[in-house]
Amino acid sequence: MKHFRKELWFNTKDRVEFINITPQVETCIKESHINEGIVLVNAMHISASVFINDDEAGLHHDFKHFLERLVPYAPTSQYRHNDTGEDNADAHIRRQIMGREVTVAITKGQLDLGPWEQLFYGEFDGQRKKRVLVKIIGE
Ligand code: ZN
Repeated sequence: MKHFRKELWFNTKDRVEFINITPQVETCIKESHINEGIVLVNAMHISASVFINDDEAGLHHDFKHFLERLVPYAPTSQYRHNDTGEDNADAHIRRQIMGREVTVAITKGQLDLGPWEQLFYGEFDGQRKKRVLVKIIGE
């Protein structure tokens, strides 16, 4: 069995941002020379997510709106986590809602995705360097 590990780095312009990372994960699969196996992709930070959904701008707007309604950033004093001096309780909770990681099958050297499925990095407390782990096992 072969294995491959790589970190993808991000530094988003906005505090909340979604980035399609499918091409970067496909590049990792090529670099790994693994044709049949599994790829795990996870955010390495507790205020960011990796998830799979449609690459459609309206939907991404809807996700942001839904999260802001459910877990508003302000007032920051509404969250006990922010009593520590941080202001990112909303980002921790959003990460919990949107998930930590995805696992995708690799078949014939390709991501074995359903129609319209794309991989996204979900940033909820950005504007600083953060990373995603890609781990591939197979043969
Ligand atoms: Zn925090």
